[in-house]
Amino acid sequence: MFDRAIITKTHQWWKFIFGLSGLVVGGMFPLFNFAGMLQWINEDTRMILILVGTAVALISFAFLFLSIRCPDCGARWAWMAARTRSHKEWIVWLFSLQHCPKCGPPKSAGSTRSL
Ligand SMILES: [Zn+2]
Repeated sequence: MFDRAIITKTHQWWKFIFGLSGLVVGGMFPLFNFAGMLQWINEDTRMILILVGTAVALISFAFLFLSIRCPDCGARWAWMAARTRSHKEWIVWLFSLQHCPKCGPPKSAGSTRSL
């Protein structure tokens, strides 16, 4: 399905999976605490889990949006998708890209390498 997507051709799909997974897993601790679901854990441990979870989520967020880039011009495709598309369609838009929206088709065969 995504074989023709440029994020697949440039072998960067794993960055999306890795970044999104870290964002979800890291974000679970603050959200679960906010929902009162971590009350069974002692307060010191809970605070450590929340801080570590928040750090993991922030680092994953930065990784997701800064590391998925065009090998030719360096355009940050995930950041571009998140900034220019609605929250409902940015992922679909990102995975439907067949060429870089900034510089067009890859300039050489070597440009499909992973960054
Ligand atoms: Zn480009």
